[in-house]
Amino acid sequence: MKFLVVDDSPTMRRIVVNALKSFGIDDIVEAEDGQDALAKLQSNKIDFIITDWNMPNMTGLDLTKAIRNSDQWKDLPILMVTTRGLKEDIIQALQAKVNNYIVKPFTPQVLKEKILSILKTNV
Ligand SMILES: [Mg+2]
Repeated sequence: MKFLVVDDSPTMRRIVVNALKSFGIDDIVEAEDGQDALAKLQSNKIDFIITDWNMPNMTGLDLTKAIRNSDQWKDLPILMVTTRGLKEDIIQALQAKVNNYIVKPFTPQVLKEKILSILKTNV
């Protein structure tokens, strides 16, 4: 399975990538914003997206909407990892059809549980 990790913060990307590697996931592509993520989707066969919300150029919310509106990627699992923890934010993200949502800071265990629960419901 190939994962796409999208965040404008290189430090945050490293934290997520290191957590994934600790679970044995090492087929990982990184992108620095939503536009970059769409380009990476074009050039890689991505199976799962973990995305930040607040990013320049294209936010994670707009990225999610673009993916859900596309024919080829509309069913791709999307996990949003963000500092935006307000109830309205979470509702907005779920309405845009992210599969699940994590508020930063998070533990690797929580990340793993959310990924597994998404994969379970997508089988
Ligand atoms: Mg950000």
